This record gives sequence, structure tokens and C-alpha cells, in this order.
Amino acid sequence: MAKLEYIWLDGYKPTQSLRSKTKIEGDFSGKLEDCPNWSFDGSSTEQAPGGSSDCVLKPVFICPDPQRKDAYLVMCEVLDSKGQPHESNGRAHIDDDDNDFWFGFEQEYFLWDPETNKPLGFPANGYPGPQGPYYCSVGAKNAFGREIVEEHLDACLDAGLNVEGINAEVAAGQWEFQIFAKGAKEAGDQIWVARYLLERIGEKYGVSINWHCKPLGQLDWNGSGMHANFSNTTLRTAGDENVYKKILEAFRPVVAEHIAVYGADNDQRLTGKHETASIHDYSYGVSDRGASIRIPLYTVQKGWKGYLEDRRPNSAADPYKVAARIIKTVKSVK
Ligand code: ADP
Ligand code: MN
Ligand code: MN
Ligand code: MN
Repeated sequence: MAKLEYIWLDGYKPTQSLRSKTKIEGDFSGKLEDCPNWSFDGSSTEQAPGGSSDCVLKPVFICPDPQRKDAYLVMCEVLDSKGQPHESNGRAHIDDDDNDFWFGFEQEYFLWDPETNKPLGFPANGYPGPQGPYYCSVGAKNAFGREIVEEHLDACLDAGLNVEGINAEVAAGQWEFQIFAKGAKEAGDQIWVARYLLERIGEKYGVSINWHCKPLGQLDWNGSGMHANFSNTTLRTAGDENVYKKILEAFRPVVAEHIAVYGADNDQRLTGKHETASIHDYSYGVSDRGASIRIPLYTVQKGWKGYLEDRRPNSAADPYKVAARIIKTVKSVK
């Protein structure tokens, strides 16, 4: 007997959340093609009216569930009752069937105490000392929740997710993990499964995960991003600054279209402070962490062969929608 955890995104706006339920399969091969489609009550997830409530789960990614006996995690796309991609299904709109696009997402988040309604490391009343010592810190004075972060890292690696690193972030109780994949859909799948594992591990500790991009409001505390590092064959092999300039300029007229899928409340985070660019501007620059898109020094040192970093997507953004939009803009350059 195998336990298959079917995971999908609900239809809430502006931020979709993870949902999942368990399917028991006898004699399961462990392969994606042997995961049957399944259905759920879309009227409970803002995805269908009560009178016609069935939505379809179409498995698209599978990995072992490292923390449950004889089990797998199965990421799914949501289809409507006619078998078409549901309007909440961002993955279906990723134009990258040949997996030419590589994405590295840097997922930031806060570990959150549901009782105090504050990050781990914040006293019940008032605030901890100002930002400075927390980033990449060690020691109980400045690093909060490491056992959760470590358990999550091991779970991701055991599941076969391509985590590239973790670090404590600038605010107290704030952390980051990075995931890289060749193929935009795969990168999105892995981010969502990693988010799922983090949420579930948090349950054990009575700690919730706050994905909001500015959970502490307009105080002197950093927000949370999900920088999107991306490349395709053109960017990886260009060897020509002008090729980069043309692609970077293609982002300029579509700022609004990008911001629309870069996560809720991003106006609170993209203020021009705390290593961000203003939500109203568009800029790029080599090594510039105050720009909308940073050209990593690595890319220039390799002679304009490498990748770009869009710093605008926030921690609550859907990596499927972020990737789909970036691909659309990059492919618009002929
Ligand atoms: P920083 O914090 O300095 O912005 P990180 O090391 O946290 O940088 O993240 C850089 C990300 O860039 C990693 O996730 C890495 O996988 C990704 N990356 C590196 N090379 C490429 C590439 N050619 N295409 C897409 N992403 C890449
Ligand atoms: Mn980083
Ligand atoms: Mn970071
Ligand atoms: Mn970054």
C-alpha cells in the first residue's frame, strides 16, 4: 500500500494556498504515469460553484515523501469539469515545453508564532534589536527556528528536490532557501513541494509560515522576496552585451503585466528601500541590488554568458505565473 499525497493550489485571490489529500494505492510503481487523475470539491476551494463542484487533479510531478511511511508527494494541476486548465492553473500557461528555461528561485519567508502573531525571536511586547546581526547569524541571540529550517532542508534533499542552499535572512525569524531546476515547470513544481514540506514541518512545532511580502508593515524590517534567476540558451551563450540589453529593454513596457503576477501587496515591499527598486520604476544594472533586474557580476565576467535576476517577485508569488510571464517577455525579443 502506498500513500499518495495529491497537492494542488486553491482558487483564493490574490494569493493561492496549498491544499492536499491522501490517496491510497495498492501495488504502486512510484511513477508519475501510474498516478490516476482524481477529483475534489472545488466549491470548498473557490474553484467551482456548489451545484457543479467537481474539479480534476492531474498529476504532473512526483517525489518520495521523506517523512511518511511508504509515501509520495504528487503535485497536481487543476482542471475544470470539462478537462480544461482551471483559471487558477498558472502552470498550464508556461511556454517552455523544451525545458530551455532554467530558473533558480530564492524563497524567503518568516517563521511565525501564531500565539504572539509575530516572527520567532520577537518578544510578545515590543521588538528585538534592530536589523544587522540576524543575516547569516549563528547563536541563540540572533538565529531563531533553526531546528525547523534544518529539518526542512533534510526533507527537501531526501525528496530529491534540488535545493542549492539556505540562509538566515536580514530580519529576525526570516529565512531563505534556493531551488534551481532546468525547465520552468519543474522549478515551479519543486518550489511548491518545498513550500508544502515547510508548512507541514511547521505544524509539528506549532509554528506557521508567513509568506506575506511585508508582514511587519512599514517598519524598518526587510520584506520577503522570491528573486527569480533565469536563463535560456540565448542568455547562456550570447557573448554580447547588446543581446542582453535587448532582452532587458523588452521588460520595460510590460512592468504592469509583470507586477500583476509578482505577488500580492508588492507595493508595500518594492519601496526603493531595503534592497528593492520602487514598484513604479524599471531599472537594471550590473551587481545592482537596488535595481528591478540585477545582472550578476558572474554573467559579465563570463563575457555576457549567464543569467539575469528579476528581484521584484515576492515571497507569496506563484512561481508558475512568475516563470510564465518572464518567458513570455524574453521570447517576445526576436
Ligand atoms: P543572491 O542572494 O546573491 O541573489 P543566490 O546564491 O541566493 O544569490 O541565488 C542565485 C540563484 O541563481 C541560485 O538559485 C542559482 O541556482 C541561480 N542560477 C545560477 N545560474 C543560473 C542560470 N544559468 N540560470 C538560472 N538560474 C541560475
Ligand atoms: Mn539569496
Ligand atoms: Mn535573500
Ligand atoms: Mn537574490
